[in-house]
Amino acid sequence: MGNPLYDRLFGIHAGKDTPFLLLPDGQTITHAAFLDTAARIANALNGYELEPGDRVAVQVEKSPEALALYAACAQTGLIFLPLNTAYTSGELCYFIENCGAALVVCDAAKQAELTPIAEAQNARLETLNADGSGSLMRRALGMLPAFEPVKRTEGDLAAFLYTSGTTGRSKGAMLTQANLLSNAETLVDEWRFTQDDVLLHALPIFHTHGLFVATNVILASGGSMIFLPKFDLDDVLRLMPNATSMMGVPTFYTRLLADDRFTGDLAQHMRLFISGSAPLLAETHERFEDRTGHRILERYGMTETNMNTSNPYDGERRAGTVGFPLPGVELKVTNPETGEALPQGEIGMIEVRGPNVFEGYWQMPEKTAAELREDGFFITGDLGRVDVDGYVHIVGRGKDLIISGGFNIYPKEVELVLDDQPGVLESAVIGVPHADFGETVLGILVAEPGRAPDLDAIMASVQNQLARFKHPSQLIVLNELPRNTMGKVQKNALRELYKDMFT
Ligand code: ATP
Ligand code: MG
Repeated sequence: MGNPLYDRLFGIHAGKDTPFLLLPDGQTITHAAFLDTAARIANALNGYELEPGDRVAVQVEKSPEALALYAACAQTGLIFLPLNTAYTSGELCYFIENCGAALVVCDAAKQAELTPIAEAQNARLETLNADGSGSLMRRALGMLPAFEPVKRTEGDLAAFLYTSGTTGRSKGAMLTQANLLSNAETLVDEWRFTQDDVLLHALPIFHTHGLFVATNVILASGGSMIFLPKFDLDDVLRLMPNATSMMGVPTFYTRLLADDRFTGDLAQHMRLFISGSAPLLAETHERFEDRTGHRILERYGMTETNMNTSNPYDGERRAGTVGFPLPGVELKVTNPETGEALPQGEIGMIEVRGPNVFEGYWQMPEKTAAELREDGFFITGDLGRVDVDGYVHIVGRGKDLIISGGFNIYPKEVELVLDDQPGVLESAVIGVPHADFGETVLGILVAEPGRAPDLDAIMASVQNQLARFKHPSQLIVLNELPRNTMGKVQKNALRELYKDMFT
């Protein structure tokens, strides 16, 4: 095969008039039409005198053309590097410099700010706007809708994806064609995607969830997607009757449940609801089932590895767990200090190995060496355990572990108790510096709408249920938890906010 990623995800649809993208205004883009656009863009890219392996840094709104740019990069052997649309030009400066981009594609509104940054890097700058206008498409539209894919092998790099920066500075994960293909093909089988599927796609396409999980799975299965620019509740409710499946972050599900228009009838015909990127509260899982009769399928993955584990399609989808390792993925729980495998059931560092695991962090050899073992196991940074039935439970990130007076405290354990309290919607438990104990536990609560949780009663209940060293020194109520675009709670920000409370 000439170019496995292009051939197996895109090339297989050549000439097909089957629907690929269903836009909210009712327009349908067929596979053939999409591939025409991709080929035109590939020809345009070819004219920019780029070499296979060059990085194309892309910060654009979600659009069919933005997705076609991904296909065009696969076709031309360029490394696709999508960036969060929320990044400011100061932040973009880091990414563009760090990746050594040869081409930057941005919204015209950002052109003036980014021109000096691109110039400093000797990178070319082109524009692509939400409506498909801009210099890239202007040039592409004058090109032929055919392009012979550049020869690549499965070991060649296909994309750099920067991690979400939840625990520190974002790192550029180098992903090969094989990383992407193996995971997409596994997920199609595991989740039973076929050409009859219509996925409700309301995720961003700069993150692994919306790009590699959702889009690659639909491409590999031959199905179509309702391609929404963002999660708009009205659009999601209006278009759900046309969908068979949805992938979302937990906040999509809590927002649906908060709206009375989201009824069991509306969801009844759906085949599958999938959640990931952040932990789904067991309560959300249960309320969703009560409302719709569907059990959300939760899975676990990350930028560096795509997906690692999933609850089963058939069989019990267990709330509060991320299911079993995917076929081909090995998972073990190790002692974070020694790296030794721990006995079944114990909490430790989750490590994974498989064809899905990335090549390393771009230009961070030390970080790569620290997290990617010689034998291929990747140290995920997540703490977890495997229960007697083999389900993987994530208990939190290693960096969020609280060490108070020499004792380890897993925030999730305390959060589960707090979440259960009357009037509490959700919680975040963090460690903050403490003069005596090194660190102490701080419990941050969000109240259910219209409720005022009784903090004394909650403290008393926690004291009954948890060992003394795990008791929060204080409880605080916030209107909401700080979250990033992927719905991840920003514990770094909370720790920073409360760092002086007990010193
Ligand atoms: P950074 O690595 O820069 O700190 P990040 O880890 O948040 O950021 P991502 O790669 O987007 O960046 O997220 C992967 C992480 O998301 C996982 O390591 C895990 O902590 C979390 N995660 C993903 N899915 C789940 C899930 N179903 N349950 C709990 N956590 C999850
Ligand atoms: Mg991470």
